[in-house]
Amino acid sequence: MDDTGFEGQAGWAAELCDLCGAVIEDGGEVYFLVSDSSVVHRTDRKLDGKRMVVARGREHGRQLVEQCRARPFVELELWAGKIGRALDRRPEGLRKAELAEATGLTPVEIELGARWKAMSAVVWRAQFGTNGGGPPP
Ligand SMILES: [Zn+2]
Repeated sequence: MDDTGFEGQAGWAAELCDLCGAVIEDGGEVYFLVSDSSVVHRTDRKLDGKRMVVARGREHGRQLVEQCRARPFVELELWAGKIGRALDRRPEGLRKAELAEATGLTPVEIELGARWKAMSAVVWRAQFGTNGGGPPP
């Protein structure tokens, strides 16, 4: 590793194919941008709902993009992510109007996103329990 923090060919770290998990060391990585309602960008709202994936060659990329398109894009999930990002940045809390401003969502979208997140938590607890998904106490 050099002082840039990267390693491998041409100064870049080796990638893993998001389809098959193979290490891509030959420069054959191909990048794609896919829709994904579970993704919110850390800082840039314009990138919300988009995820960059990498594949080993165009054929794996084609299959990967096909897989990603099969996953439903759930607006409520995206809204929940936007709410979570806004609240993470403001640990002191946000009033409704501030939350709307911070997320770019309408009050109805905020309500539905919050309900979706609460419902997801219920489903997650039913599936994995209340101890964080770790081994039973
Ligand atoms: Zn692959």
